[in-house]
Amino acid sequence: MYLCARLDNFFQFMATFRKRALDEAASHQPHRFYEEKASVSEYFGQNVLDLDKMRGYMSQKAFEAVQASVLHGAKLDRSLADEIAEGMKEWAMEMGATHYTHLFQPLTDSTAEKHEAFVSVADDVAFEKFKGTALVQQEPDASSFPNGGLRNTFEARGYSAWDPSSPVFIMDGTLCIPSVFVSYTGEALDTKVPHLKSLSALSEAAASVAQLFDENVKSVKVNLGIEQEYFLVDEALYNARPDLMLSGRTVIGHTSAKDQQLEDHYFGAIPSRVSCFMKDFETEAYKLGIMLQTRHNEVAPNQFECAPMFCDATKAIDQNMMLMIIMQKVAHKHHLKVIFHEKPFDGVNGSGKHCNWSVVTDTGVNLLSPGKTPTKNLQFLSFYASVLKAVHKHHYLLMASVASLSNSYRLGGGEAPPAVMSVFSGSTLYGIFKSIMEMGDAEVSSHSLESIKVVNSLPEIFPDNTDRNRTSPFAFTGNRFEFRAVGSSQNVASAAYVLNCIVAESLKEFRAEVDALEAAGEDRSSAVMSTVRKFVTAAKDIMFEGNGYSREWEIEAASRGLRAIKNVTEAYEVYHEQQTVDLFGKLGVLALNEVEARFEILNETYVKKLQIEARIIGDMCLNHVIPAAVRYQNILIENVKGIKEIFGKDYLDYCSSEIETLKKISKYINSVSADVESLVEARKQANKISNIALRAKAYSRDVKEMMDKVRISADNLEMLIDDEMWPLPKYRELLFF
Ligand code: ADP
Ligand code: MG
Repeated sequence: MYLCARLDNFFQFMATFRKRALDEAASHQPHRFYEEKASVSEYFGQNVLDLDKMRGYMSQKAFEAVQASVLHGAKLDRSLADEIAEGMKEWAMEMGATHYTHLFQPLTDSTAEKHEAFVSVADDVAFEKFKGTALVQQEPDASSFPNGGLRNTFEARGYSAWDPSSPVFIMDGTLCIPSVFVSYTGEALDTKVPHLKSLSALSEAAASVAQLFDENVKSVKVNLGIEQEYFLVDEALYNARPDLMLSGRTVIGHTSAKDQQLEDHYFGAIPSRVSCFMKDFETEAYKLGIMLQTRHNEVAPNQFECAPMFCDATKAIDQNMMLMIIMQKVAHKHHLKVIFHEKPFDGVNGSGKHCNWSVVTDTGVNLLSPGKTPTKNLQFLSFYASVLKAVHKHHYLLMASVASLSNSYRLGGGEAPPAVMSVFSGSTLYGIFKSIMEMGDAEVSSHSLESIKVVNSLPEIFPDNTDRNRTSPFAFTGNRFEFRAVGSSQNVASAAYVLNCIVAESLKEFRAEVDALEAAGEDRSSAVMSTVRKFVTAAKDIMFEGNGYSREWEIEAASRGLRAIKNVTEAYEVYHEQQTVDLFGKLGVLALNEVEARFEILNETYVKKLQIEARIIGDMCLNHVIPAAVRYQNILIENVKGIKEIFGKDYLDYCSSEIETLKKISKYINSVSADVESLVEARKQANKISNIALRAKAYSRDVKEMMDKVRISADNLEMLIDDEMWPLPKYRELLFF
């Protein structure tokens, strides 16, 4: 009797633990926190200090210096820095700001900020100041950020330096100054430095090819349109899941009976609570000049997407980072949590960050858009062929640029995207490349009918070129490439600078090839056409029009010599390959020690994240799953004992199902405990390995394998135990509003 009374107390406690979270979640109603203003243009960009506004806060001379630096990357004269800083402070204070911060993007996939007050005091008199030196440079401790050994122990300093190519803005009463982050000795400690350098390399290489067709082209810039996918979870339920809170994903949890199989969520009606949240974060984003254009439900339940209008790559990346911060802040008002993790829930689709990439000249021509004349089309084919060759040569590096622990739960998991790189062109364009490859030397000459026909046939193809292949990780979509393998939580810059670099290298080769042919007496059109043919032929194996998720493609890709990402930590080895080191080195984007540092940091991050997940799953099993299972086991035992008391030796006729359940529960309790122990042991063994790359490999193999095992038993227990007693919010509760 005593035992039963105690058990009763337990159920009540357990039931209320999850139930409290569910009750709280149910009380959260749709609500708008921002006043609805129909005309966004009235407040669009109000928190950004763009060039136009800046003009009013400084002398003409200072303004022109900033302008040259913003528009053309000119070096800023330090003697003007004080005046510029003063102007910025004046604007910021008018906007209600009290602090300033350099905002940089360390190698953590997030942003870093350290706020400093404008206010100062001298002789007991308070006043606001913001000096030029503080605008141009800050000195955060580099040892507290991932640095991959670039920080010597005797010199821990790092510098953040203002990047004028991205405008300053106000967030939460703080003037934010977009910055780069470098070590004391000048090596890049962030994603922005290599990205900015890759943009210059690409500009130079692309302009040299564009000049074959138009001498007036001086520079080329990259445009990015970044689509952001995310999940939303009620805050109360999120707080009741230690795994979501600490690692951003559920490490255990049985799939829900219904999830995405009815395909009823994609593009469905947006739930009111979500719609209120979306409108509110859009309002905040608009104030920061982020031109959000689309919002919709995604494939998985409680999964959504938003996309801004494409813009200059640096701005697009900075804005994406800000958007993620804003979304999280606004979500809090709505009692929601935004989950940016690539695979928060097993069994339903994960989230990505599609990266729409195009290149455009300073004369306004999109080089990936076929034009109306044969010359323009020849230019388009040159750029397209160069991208193809780049992606073919560095396909493994490009895939590795998006490889992370969190993205690995999604990459190659039979959903977007596949583990192996390929380029989808669409049937018409693919047909054109086939006929170019089949052309003989004579036909390639610009005077040949065949080549004119091919080049001329291009403009017709695009209006109806809608056969988009969603299974391709790198698809041409009319006037841009869409790189779909980037993970939803990643800083796009890491993938973008790799893409920029490989294309820059390829374009340089393209120009050199054309120059050589011209020097040998060929006329320009046929020299270009021959080079296009050569590049496309060299890259033909990367082109694939079929289903990227199919088993046949996996086999076919392997036979074409394409390398699939089977294991993230193995993929990181590509950073040691000569062609990778040469690529970054020759373009001046990353020196060898910087590449090495990145390799270290990638492995280190992988280990740390997996270690956290492994600890969480162990804790949850020992502290939540097993205790709940034991309680239910005890009830069944009491029940069987009672039946035996009443029915005596015939008791088995009346409680065989309870006994079967008891056996299963006992079996899974045993296996969970044993597997958690093995998991701890696997971690201990892996931790003994001092080489970080080898430790990461051990983690990816042994620790991951044990985590999978633990999960199976834990999820089975979830299915067996009285729902009332299960302490953790279940998938069906987390995934549906
Ligand atoms: P979908 O989901 O069908 O791909 P979306 O409208 O969600 O389409 O996103 C498309 C993204 O591509 C948007 O961010 C859009 O601004 C961007 N985009 C469109 N044209 C270009 C271009 N020329 N260069 C780069 N990005 C582009
Ligand atoms: Mg898209």
